[in-house]
Amino acid sequence: MDIHASEILVAGGGIGGLAAALALSRQGAGVQLIEQAEAFSEVGAGIQIGPNVTRILRDWGLEAGLRRVASFPHALLARDARSGRELGSLPLGDRAQRLYGAPYACIHRADLHHLLLQAVQDRGVPMGLNQRLADVQPRADGVTVRTEQGQVLAPALLVGADGLWSRSRQALGLTDAPRFSGHLAYRGLVPLATPPAQPQVTVWMGQRLHIVHYPVQAGRALNVVAIVHGELPSQAQDWDHAAHADALFQALGPICRPLQQTLHAVPNWRLWALNDRPPLTGAGQMGQGAVALLGDAAHPMRPYLAQGAGMAIEDAQALAQCWSAGGAVPERVQRYAAQRWQRNAQVQARAIRNGRIFHAHGPVSWGRNLAMGVLGAKVMDVPWLYKGIA
Ligand SMILES: Cc1cc2nc3c(=O)[nH]c(=O)nc-3n(C[C@H](O)[C@H](O)[C@H](O)COP(=O)(O)OP(=O)(O)OC[C@H]3O[C@@H](n4cnc5c(N)ncnc54)[C@H](O)[C@@H]3O)c2cc1C
Repeated sequence: MDIHASEILVAGGGIGGLAAALALSRQGAGVQLIEQAEAFSEVGAGIQIGPNVTRILRDWGLEAGLRRVASFPHALLARDARSGRELGSLPLGDRAQRLYGAPYACIHRADLHHLLLQAVQDRGVPMGLNQRLADVQPRADGVTVRTEQGQVLAPALLVGADGLWSRSRQALGLTDAPRFSGHLAYRGLVPLATPPAQPQVTVWMGQRLHIVHYPVQAGRALNVVAIVHGELPSQAQDWDHAAHADALFQALGPICRPLQQTLHAVPNWRLWALNDRPPLTGAGQMGQGAVALLGDAAHPMRPYLAQGAGMAIEDAQALAQCWSAGGAVPERVQRYAAQRWQRNAQVQARAIRNGRIFHAHGPVSWGRNLAMGVLGAKVMDVPWLYKGIA
């Protein structure tokens, strides 16, 4: 089948959608992108990106940009939130580079989004703002996509990168809503006067809570995320609320002084209700016919393995490779879905498990602490993940 220019439509201009537009365009595919928002922007705070992801960004020519804006931690340190005791550590820095051939990085979401956006713009990919995908109907040669603003598009392939509340999913007959995890994330940034000499990711673990912080913006700010258990806010989709520190401290209960000091340094908190979906159970949930899903649209996950955006970027790379391998569109989609669903399911499941381990108490937390103290990197590293995809 002959694929003409602009025959791929990417719906959604978040990290996943931009990554898909970039990867597909780099393979010579004709791509256009629509985004519901009036302007490209990324809310949120920092994200960690493992070597499996930085390797792909390097392949896409983004290494220099990444070096300018990211922070590269030399270790991940686990500590007890109540006593402050160090529980274990995983060297990152040179070790990640040596074992996995790429660095472990921490970056502000807006910086990563900007790097991808710039690269997509440089390739001349047409992007339509204020276009909200409303409906997808099958055609003989692809799909017909209608936007709420009245645009009608007829791509050979629709890439649904429209996030947690994806409309594109419906084209695959998937109508189930995301589920609330029972966890709330408080996020904030602390300005840093000088970049830390030895940047690190610190994870504080406690009963029904954990806190993660690491530098972003090339060490000019510390990104802080505190996860606690709590009730779903009244509006499930209205997930980004200004939050008050009082509510956070009440939910945390007693914590050690160094951690208190870090949390008190956060000038403004924002609150997220964390939603996910159960791990994927088959390829059909990632793509069928002329529709491929990617990122949170396909597999929203709890952030406890720090890989949601990472898996969206891996999806984008895999989709572009499957696209360039040729064949009829449904075959390319089938190849992509078959290649990606199990890895994404494994990451989703591991993220859920990590949450249980981080928030454990009693004998489970004693076992966790013992394992991290004695085995360190052996239990804290995730080689099958960081080795990445071919
Ligand atoms: C607290 C927290 C911490 C996290 N930490 C990490 C981390 O350390 N590492 C990591 O890799 N990931 C992390 N993540 C996950 C990561 O942020 C997400 O997995 C990732 O951003 C998903 O990207 P996406 O492009 O698939 O979806 P989104 O970012 O949701 O983008 C979807 C885009 O589609 C647009 N859109 C939606 N509907 C439509 C429509 N109908 N038509 C057109 N456009 C539409 C939206 O406006 C948006 O721009 C974290 C998440 C949270 C909540």
